[in-house]
Amino acid sequence: MKRLKIGSAAGIGIYLHWTFWLLIVGIFAFYLYQGSTVTAAVIGVGLVLAIFVCVVLHELGHALTARRYDVPTRDITIYPIGGVARLQRIPEEPLKEFWIAVAGPAVNVVIAGILGALILATGDTLMPRAFIGSEEMTSGGSIWATLMWINVALVGFNLLPAFPMDGGRVLRALLATQMDYARATQLAANVGQGMAVLFGLLGLIIFNPILIFIAVFVFFGARQESQQAMMRSLTRGVPVRQAMLTRFAKLHPDDTLDDAIEELLAGSDQDFPVVEDGHIIGVLTRKQMMQALSEQGRDARIGDIVEEGNCAVVEDTTMLREAFERVQSAACNTLPVVRQGELVGLLTLENVGELMMISSALRQAGNQRAVRKVLDAHGNGSETPTGESADGGAARLPAS
Ligand SMILES: [Zn+2]
Repeated sequence: MKRLKIGSAAGIGIYLHWTFWLLIVGIFAFYLYQGSTVTAAVIGVGLVLAIFVCVVLHELGHALTARRYDVPTRDITIYPIGGVARLQRIPEEPLKEFWIAVAGPAVNVVIAGILGALILATGDTLMPRAFIGSEEMTSGGSIWATLMWINVALVGFNLLPAFPMDGGRVLRALLATQMDYARATQLAANVGQGMAVLFGLLGLIIFNPILIFIAVFVFFGARQESQQAMMRSLTRGVPVRQAMLTRFAKLHPDDTLDDAIEELLAGSDQDFPVVEDGHIIGVLTRKQMMQALSEQGRDARIGDIVEEGNCAVVEDTTMLREAFERVQSAACNTLPVVRQGELVGLLTLENVGELMMISSALRQAGNQRAVRKVLDAHGNGSETPTGESADGGAARLPAS
């Protein structure tokens, strides 16, 4: 995704997605196309930019409230349809999530309040000036009133109780004070999808493409949110041992690139652990392989190509969620899993995803016992060396 950094606030980088420029150019072209003057087009584009300043402030509202709860924000990206503040994690305490979600729309309430007060103080009209339309339509009213009403609309839109809108999070947080987090997410997501269907129907009846677009956006946003929450609740208390790949190809430092290519073509693995006497030296990725092939030829020694310790290593008793965060932030897509220094498995995002699919399919069948059986059976090929009961986690799967 191509995006441009336009600055930073409170140490958080703010980015513009490339499609945002299309929007600006599109609006400018539209104004000129409908015969407006260049001045009118500049004012139109200026209004769009002002709206997006309000959106950035809205996102900063989320980010700075999250910071108060020690949740850092990776960055803020502005898309044509709105902004996204990527929080490092979502706090599990419902009340914290509630305040973080509410803080965004609260910023727009404040902006609308200030604009309203300024307009009244200067004796201007609260009538908005039309954004797009004929010359007389876009000449009456006040452009500041337009901005004020747009902020009011942003509050209303964001507080719709549907994921991925803030209102969906507020609803989930409120439900989660009464029930299990995963169940609260499921319910909130169902409400969101129900609303999306209503929007979609309404959009079809009155033939409003924007409404249909919002409906599709909300529908898939709700589904994604509930899947992520499911993933979080399923990985809670599950050790890496239960989700790791146990059948995989290994390479020896004395192997040649030719051997590696053979392994690459023979199976579906893309990254190969390089092992000597049971100890992991590093991971040879497909990308490294291709680069080395063009630079050093097929006789090159694997030991000379792979950087020692290039991938972080996890213990098999590490909790899946912790390892998961490491996979996402590490340079490697594959984490070697060790027990007492010896390589026993590999952890890949795909494999974790497969485990989740199996679990959620079984959960939908209402078979809690089977979920546990799959998780246990997969981990049972090996005993827990430390003696601590890592299996206890599987029993903590949320009841649905
Ligand atoms: Zn928001």
